[in-house]
Amino acid sequence: MSDCVFCKMAAKEIVPQTVYEDKDILAFYDINPQSPAHILIIPRSHFENILAVGESEAGLLGRMLLAANRVAADKGFAEDGFRLVINCNAHGGQSVDHLHIHLLAGRQMKWPPG
Ligand code: AMP
Ligand code: ZN
Repeated sequence: MSDCVFCKMAAKEIVPQTVYEDKDILAFYDINPQSPAHILIIPRSHFENILAVGESEAGLLGRMLLAANRVAADKGFAEDGFRLVINCNAHGGQSVDHLHIHLLAGRQMKWPPG
């Protein structure tokens, strides 16, 4: 989508602080971090949110989780732990309408979340 900020990153029109990339997936630092480490994992293809993916994206979703796993291990968050979050629509707090997984690490997380 031409007006989507994450599509612009996937197309390298905007260059994010990349921590992982492959042909389908990009991971980069969040511009407004909510924890000492806050990384977003996105598909290069545009999907509005988690509701917009179907059976044919099962592999992509699995690889996004594996990419999060790999980033967490590479950055040294695995032992202390981390949190993965997918916000969806208004009540979920979604503000960018391009599917993404938040990887939050570097501090003690609270439960339940706000
Ligand atoms: P959400 O509220 O779940 O849709 O998350 C969107 C996230 O994208 C927020 O944490 C924003 O800080 C982040 N974000 C928005 N624009 C950018 C950008 N240009 N570079 C990096 N992160 C961004
Ligand atoms: Zn997009």
